Amino acid sequence: MNKDKAIAVVGAGIVGCSCALWLQKKGFSVVLIDPEIPGSGTSSGNAGSIANYACIPVNSPDVFKNLPSQMFSADSPLSVDIGYAIRHLPWMLKFLSNCRSARVARISRILGKILLKTYEGFDPLIEYCNAESLLSRRGFMQVHCNQAEFDNAKASNQVRKEQGVIFAEINAGEIYELEPGLKKIFTKGLLFEQAAQVVNPQSLTTCFFDTFMKNGGDYKAMKVSAISHTENRLCVHCDDGGNFDVDRAVIAAGAFSTQIKGIGVSQLPLDTERGYHLQYRGMQSLLSRPVSWHEAGFYATPMNEAMRIAGTVEIAGLSDSKNPRHLNYLKRRAQQMLELPEQPDQDWLGFRPTFPDALPAIGYSLGSEYVLYAFGHQHIGLTLSGITGKLISELINGEELSHNITPFSPRRFL
Ligand SMILES: Cc1cc2nc3c(=O)[nH]c(=O)nc-3n(C[C@H](O)[C@H](O)[C@H](O)COP(=O)(O)OP(=O)(O)OC[C@H]3O[C@@H](n4cnc5c(N)ncnc54)[C@H](O)[C@@H]3O)c2cc1C
Repeated sequence: MNKDKAIAVVGAGIVGCSCALWLQKKGFSVVLIDPEIPGSGTSSGNAGSIANYACIPVNSPDVFKNLPSQMFSADSPLSVDIGYAIRHLPWMLKFLSNCRSARVARISRILGKILLKTYEGFDPLIEYCNAESLLSRRGFMQVHCNQAEFDNAKASNQVRKEQGVIFAEINAGEIYELEPGLKKIFTKGLLFEQAAQVVNPQSLTTCFFDTFMKNGGDYKAMKVSAISHTENRLCVHCDDGGNFDVDRAVIAAGAFSTQIKGIGVSQLPLDTERGYHLQYRGMQSLLSRPVSWHEAGFYATPMNEAMRIAGTVEIAGLSDSKNPRHLNYLKRRAQQMLELPEQPDQDWLGFRPTFPDALPAIGYSLGSEYVLYAFGHQHIGLTLSGITGKLISELINGEELSHNITPFSPRRFL
């Protein structure tokens, strides 16, 4: 029945591909549009963790205390380009207002609830795409160097517990029994056995995309510049001057979503938290699951062909230029954690799409029920991609929603 309805999904990252697959599974005619190779953006370089435990946002009351010193320290996983921050003061102020305790608690509750649905959205796509070989289901480990650092994380761990996240505290003996490749500097840790890992995030999106195409999906290698309304439909305008009509459009262009004209995004405070990775080819066997050194703000993840060191946060906009401070920081810290070669084989910069309240926009756009938003998933876009696609497909299909999306409404910014 849905075959007559044409849906455009703008952006073929992990979120766009997941939306496209869920819609295809429900019988819609779907066209994915992206000028770049599907999955080659931020979705390619992440830490690969299906982080269903990640309900603690970057927003925190500690930011007020720590931000000034962290911003200027070369030994911090966080940096803010002051010029950029001043030019984008409204986003910064909204971010800071969401660092108050009550707001952070609310964000954690909202994220915690949707994260419980992670596999409900993700696993059906893994099955549909026969992609189980791209996953490892050995859990995730968080490590701390000393009792004081472990104690600092206690409040967050309590919040996780309240949100239904299951994990166990582990001591040094247990850490090194599970991960003997870690250097002997860690004394306390947490083990999240229900977390999974993608062993090559680019391959996963490619697999989703290939399955989509094999099952009758359409793809246009174009950049969407604008979307306008015709009488009962939408017209998608591309950079090359071409255009075509569809019945509905889903915007899933990650950190670039608000550059598209005509979709009511001008009032949305979307910015980016830049993040980096380094890769050490052939060093993946040092670990058997992703391990995060909590205080150092990064993950070491054994990918299928390399050890990936991924993390840090830089507020500096969408420019392509890499900040050597972040690369040097990751290199130095990774060597403290693991026996790695002097130089990585690859470095990479990606753009997490982030609203100041750390919640994504999932649902009808501002101004039109024909256009839907699916962007702003900050640090957990891989994790939430499946459930986002499922919810978008339910909205377009007129089904009862399997999760309350009111907190993700873009109207919260009006
Ligand atoms: C260092 C780092 C580590 C991370 N680790 C994790 C992790 O372990 N687990 C996790 O869940 N998440 C993680 N993330 C976050 C996650 O990677 C992102 O949230 C996610 O990739 C966002 O996916 P997306 O599809 O929204 O965006 P993208 O992957 O950026 O895809 C957007 C696509 O839209 C296209 N596009 C842009 N503009 C247009 C246009 N006008 N027309 C058509 N197409 C357009 C782009 O070319 C791109 O392909 C991490 C991020 C970083 C940076």
